[in-house]
Amino acid sequence: MHCPVCGNDHISDAQDLLSRKHEIFTPCPDCNHRIQNKAGPPDDSSPPPCHCGRVFIDDVYVRLYRLLVDEGIFFGDEPLSAIGTPLIDPGIYLRFPPFLPPRTLLLISSVFDEDAAHRAYHEIDQVSGILNQSLIPPGIGDRQDNAPPVCSEQQVLCGCDVRADLFPTSKGPVVVYKKQGAAHIEFPHGFDPKIRSVEAAIKKVHPSLFVDACSGVGTLGIAGGILGVHHIMLNDPWYAAAFFSAFNMQVNKKALSLDECTFSTDFSHLAREKVREEPLLVAEGYGAENRIEVFQGRMELLYSQIHDPSVLTVFDPFDKKQFRQNQSFFSNWEHSVGGEVFIP
Ligand SMILES: [Zn+2]
Ligand SMILES: [Zn+2]
Repeated sequence: MHCPVCGNDHISDAQDLLSRKHEIFTPCPDCNHRIQNKAGPPDDSSPPPCHCGRVFIDDVYVRLYRLLVDEGIFFGDEPLSAIGTPLIDPGIYLRFPPFLPPRTLLLISSVFDEDAAHRAYHEIDQVSGILNQSLIPPGIGDRQDNAPPVCSEQQVLCGCDVRADLFPTSKGPVVVYKKQGAAHIEFPHGFDPKIRSVEAAIKKVHPSLFVDACSGVGTLGIAGGILGVHHIMLNDPWYAAAFFSAFNMQVNKKALSLDECTFSTDFSHLAREKVREEPLLVAEGYGAENRIEVFQGRMELLYSQIHDPSVLTVFDPFDKKQFRQNQSFFSNWEHSVGGEVFIP
């Protein structure tokens, strides 16, 4: 599938990714590797790339390190870990460090400039992209009174920052793509307490409608569909979250028993209005028994789209502590929407 952001063919549907997930980062019998001490400069010897195309993650880091020294950015006494944070694509819970096939490493780094990043992308096959690390988390920041919220994204220095994560549910994994520079990091750890809490709530309530009211890229709402709720509503005020909620509905189409997904807009159109108040329908999916709707809008205004008393709503805000104190929001929601509401 083509990437909705860069247009290149680096997206797989959920079935395809799941069928390959055990072999993607596993070495072939000829793969060599050398574990490096991350707290100091790297050891000079690292094995050459294997004919299978995979390179052990530490050896990719050694090559990045040498490139940074060559560019005059590093002096050679920095620790290996100073390069930045690696995110593999797809993000899968692994028991051993990965052997990386081409274009499977997105690096979040504060040391690369654009020239060094372009060199890294062209000279080191494993690099899929480099993001410029910023101190502010990506997405919508705090709203001060009635001022418009401050939004931030990490700059893509090279390649593309769209990548997938795989999260397990009891009915099979959910695959979620995201534009990483516009999303929070949520890496799979083999056990996801939020998904467990969604499973428990669905088992208890048996809703006919499950609403993921600040959906991020749609993980919990799509998990609800995979777990068997027939009508799902996803919503987020942030354009990149709403778009990827819709995109992930399409990626997981089969597991969601959908026959058709229709988009009312595309990524570049949504990006023109990064934060939206009134709900805008981004996409819909239909199957014989199932329906999914995805909106971009402020969650306080989503009630106008909800007309089912058998509703279960999950709120998964970034700042949970602040959100829990927002009692007026909960009482308004219970009054205007009803049903059961929970924070995972
Ligand atoms: Zn892309
Ligand atoms: Zn190999």
